Amino acid sequence: MLRNIRRATFRALQTWGVSRLVADSRWRRQRLLILCYHGVSQEDEHLWRPNLYMESNVLRQRLDILQRGEYNVLPLGTALQHLHAGELPPRSVVITFDDGMCDFYRRAYPLLKSCGFPVTVYQTTYYSHYQRPVFNLICSYMLWKRRGMVLDKGKELGLKPPLDLRTESSREEIVLRLMRGAEVDHLNGADRDALAATLASVLQLDYDELLRKRLLHVMSPQEISELAAAGVDFQLHAHRHRTPMDEASFRKEIQENRQRLQAITNSDPRHFCYPSGEYHSQFLPWLDSENVISATTCNPGLVTTRTHPLLLPRFVDTSARSGIEFEGWLAGVGLLLAFKRSARTG
Ligand SMILES: [Zn+2]
Repeated sequence: MLRNIRRATFRALQTWGVSRLVADSRWRRQRLLILCYHGVSQEDEHLWRPNLYMESNVLRQRLDILQRGEYNVLPLGTALQHLHAGELPPRSVVITFDDGMCDFYRRAYPLLKSCGFPVTVYQTTYYSHYQRPVFNLICSYMLWKRRGMVLDKGKELGLKPPLDLRTESSREEIVLRLMRGAEVDHLNGADRDALAATLASVLQLDYDELLRKRLLHVMSPQEISELAAAGVDFQLHAHRHRTPMDEASFRKEIQENRQRLQAITNSDPRHFCYPSGEYHSQFLPWLDSENVISATTCNPGLVTTRTHPLLLPRFVDTSARSGIEFEGWLAGVGLLLAFKRSARTG
């Protein structure tokens, strides 16, 4: 219902030419829109998590809109400098991708390159060096593959039978139980991967095939290095995609992430993105101590000179958004119509 109202309103604003007026206004010129993407499907990932994954052709359409509308797509660091110097070009936009999945290398980057658009990737590094699928994601994806079933199994996984795969929440409950069990038992990466392989066998899925396709894998150091050499900007997203609540562990996540990226890309990453968009006020001085100069959230909004540099809002673009809604956000009218909504982010 709300989505229909929102779309109708965007359409009306476009028909009246209001979007274009706002896009070209002085008001918009003092603002920066940071776009946030996650994955681009290699197969059917967008059907599994439409708020995390989109199809290549949807991304292609978004990039076409940016080109047609003559939006100025800037590198993140440059855009923030221009913003604070009062020198942003009209219709400024930054493109960011979270996590740095293998599908970025295979699907997203070729499209961005063909448009000549700069991009920042907030790269998590643990699963880059450990080339296996991200544990919680692959478990969730495999359970979704068998959605609708109730299996009288679970003991092999340390869970009480049955495994109820009928709803998203019942499937996510299983993932949570697996993650909690892995945490309690102090399972390392290889143990977790073995557990995911056991889940695949319980579900009668071919785990080796998922590995061959590199579904839900993070980019390898070689892939990151190649893209960095081609001009992709790699920035911080925590080594293990988490933000512990104690300072020492939090800073260790940043340090480890930075050291790995420095070794691969030969650069000094100083921009950060909160994993899963989760942040707390105590993180700000810790980021400061780590010489982090900007940090992005998943809260919707445009950046101005008054925005706290460690709390930069972004527009999270997903399959669930229409092209019209996307254009509204580019123009700057999206914020005016942003109904509060919860979006699952990664
Ligand atoms: Zn993330």
